[in-house]
Amino acid sequence: MVSHSSKNKPSVYIAYTGGTIGMVPGDKGYRPEAGFLTERINTLSKSYPEQLPDFKVHEYSPLLDSANMSPSDWEQIASDIESHYTEFDGFVILHGTDTMAYSASALSFMLEELSKPVIFTGSQIPIGQIRSDAIDNIIGSLLIAGYQAIPEVAIYFHNHLYRGNRCQKVDASGFDAFASPNFPPLANVGTKIEINQSIINKFPRNSFKVQRITPPKIITMNLFPGFDASIIQALTEQKIDGIILRTYGVGNAPVQNKALLQALEHAHQQGIVIVNCTQCFQGHVDMSGYETGTALMNAGVVSGADMTVEAALSKLYYLFNIGLEQQQIETKMQQNLRGELTRPSTTSV
Ligand code: ASP
Repeated sequence: MVSHSSKNKPSVYIAYTGGTIGMVPGDKGYRPEAGFLTERINTLSKSYPEQLPDFKVHEYSPLLDSANMSPSDWEQIASDIESHYTEFDGFVILHGTDTMAYSASALSFMLEELSKPVIFTGSQIPIGQIRSDAIDNIIGSLLIAGYQAIPEVAIYFHNHLYRGNRCQKVDASGFDAFASPNFPPLANVGTKIEINQSIINKFPRNSFKVQRITPPKIITMNLFPGFDASIIQALTEQKIDGIILRTYGVGNAPVQNKALLQALEHAHQQGIVIVNCTQCFQGHVDMSGYETGTALMNAGVVSGADMTVEAALSKLYYLFNIGLEQQQIETKMQQNLRGELTRPSTTSV
């Protein structure tokens, strides 16, 4: 752990978990290399001694490609933040881009009563390669985590700061890799850092604490023409805990498929929480719009409103871990807990 500190400057804790940002070319493609990124970041403090906040880098071991991350890694990040919470003014999480939206969504629920910035970033090209986007993303994140009062888990990438639980990775190789389809950016960065103050979370806060997560059995599945209802029946027999059903448009399903409706209704009666999220990139679920939606509502499916699948999934993980019953989870899935949904659900709460 290396620290760069001086008096009277804000201080930022950097948790370096892995990802392309610090990878080096190897025989089988890019691979994480211990020490490499940390050394590069530490030279930044020499280049910009006045402008950057003080910071300390903690490099995880092993460094992970984020495709390999699981909820136990979220817990490691959350515990790391908890251990350093009082000592630092803000946190930067260096993370692979592939599952960054899942981790940021999960942390937004796990970090309860958060009153400091937690900024995820990464890059599309490693820091050691020509045309890398790493330095810009790191510097932007450090400045925001150190100097801006944004008590949120956010993703900073390619000049935009997004609420973490509103984000999706939308481009596998472009620099503008993330989008927040149903919520405006918290900040846009050009020659100035422009914070959209009116939309920053203003939930009242008590003492910060971390909610640990043991993942329940959840599946996310797209409906598609020809969907076979026996898949839902088989999952019900497996006693899974929840289904995120990705439906058409504003939350529609093929209601002429009676076997599907019966299978969903039976799954719900067996205690499975079923959440309706749209397959569309943008917009929200309104199951009262068409009879193809109301039938789902009648089968016990609840609206995921305008949540991303990443947010819906991690919110389910969180709710299953705080000791709630099926109906309480269904109610809370439709309520705004961390700014993850804004549009009111049309199902009864
Ligand atoms: N596979 C890498 C990861 O998610 C991709 C990246 O970092 O951009 O760790």
